Amino acid sequence: MMRNQSARAELIMVGTEMLALGARDTNSDILKKDLAAIGYEVVALSVVVDELEVLSGAVRTALSRSQLTLISGGLGPTRDDRTRAAIAAALGVPLRSDPSAWRSIRRWYDERGRKPGPGARRQSQVPRGAESLDNPVGSAPGIWWQRRGSMLAAIPGVPWEFERMWTEQVLPRVPKIAAGSALASFRVGGLTESYVDSRLVDLYRRPLLDVTVLAKTDAIEIHLRGKKTDRRAAAAVMRAAVYVRRRLGRAIFAEGEETLEQVVGDRLRERCETLAVAESCTGGELGARLTRVPGSSEYFQGGIIAYSDEVKRRLLQVPAATLRRHGAVSEPVARALAEGARRRMKCDWGLAITGVAGPGGGTAAKPVGRVFLGLAGTGRRTSSRRLQLSGSRELIRQRCTAAALLWLYSILRAGGRCR
Ligand code: ATP
Ligand code: MG
Repeated sequence: MMRNQSARAELIMVGTEMLALGARDTNSDILKKDLAAIGYEVVALSVVVDELEVLSGAVRTALSRSQLTLISGGLGPTRDDRTRAAIAAALGVPLRSDPSAWRSIRRWYDERGRKPGPGARRQSQVPRGAESLDNPVGSAPGIWWQRRGSMLAAIPGVPWEFERMWTEQVLPRVPKIAAGSALASFRVGGLTESYVDSRLVDLYRRPLLDVTVLAKTDAIEIHLRGKKTDRRAAAAVMRAAVYVRRRLGRAIFAEGEETLEQVVGDRLRERCETLAVAESCTGGELGARLTRVPGSSEYFQGGIIAYSDEVKRRLLQVPAATLRRHGAVSEPVARALAEGARRRMKCDWGLAITGVAGPGGGTAAKPVGRVFLGLAGTGRRTSSRRLQLSGSRELIRQRCTAAALLWLYSILRAGGRCR
């Protein structure tokens, strides 16, 4: 039964660690995104234990109701890896050893000067009628099986092996149903979720459009999706995107997959300017985010984690009197930190964060969540901002990092380019 011209896909993530030990399933994120782009509707995602009965039951169910079954994990050499046997049981066929899989497993062990044990022998097995998929970055081969309208793939669970085999070997075998429903997304800063929602009410009435507004730590995200994969739905998404840009204007800092640290970096690069940071309560989070962007060395010089007053004074030249008079968590100290970072690291911009992340350490005058940002730049007066944030220690750290990046972004966007 096909709906919206899309075919149904079902995802099975195998691994007791994701149920009992708090490991997170991230492999399915890649599948959801890629499948949507080629017109498959994901109708179920299960996380299952490494147990033959449960696993073969899940595979059987998936095969009975979906065109495409994708399995992650349980292909390793250890006895708790039961995906091969479970697929064979669900298909009702025996396992056989695949000579080409066995050859590449032996080569993999040879290259590492190791001897394949009985577990490795088991890894060369595939259910009868299936083929094995070569694993260029690990020892476990994958499995591909297809019969009439039904397809199944099993891919090793180790994330980099998973991603590589999925994109290089499985995805190309899956027929495209459609170009995928049209998508558009936006990130908005400095506004509340309900305000954003109220600016967009008109969109909820449009029949071909799905609208999702999500509050994230960084920003509010707006996702637009066509309800169908046809041209009229795509046009509806395009019209809605124009409307969102008009209604929210400069509050939108990123579109598509862009992140806050990316757009800050883009602006700095356009302006040929450099940045240094000084962080207290965020302990390096700001620098970590900025350097997550490939190529950030073009504009990011470095950062100092000035946690103690001593470091604030000695490395960033915050006057002792300022620290004494106003305390480390204060606007004058935030400004002095920003200036110190800019001066010491010889940059165009210095950005600083100091605050009380909690859970302890709050006072009536400076409660938990009180954070000051400082920004120093060439040819402008150093300024500061006061924030009052809520949430756990971790959340406060993330929120003030995002607020600092957003502030810098809004100032960079206003200025001109260097050439
Ligand atoms: P392989 O077939 O490559 O041996 P496996 O499931 O047998 O896969 P495990 O040793 O169970 O291998 O897991 C290897 C690593 O991959 C573990 O760190 C595990 O947490 C991780 N992993 C497994 N499944 C997923 C998933 N769905 N998302 C993210 N990480 C995963
Ligand atoms: Mg596993």
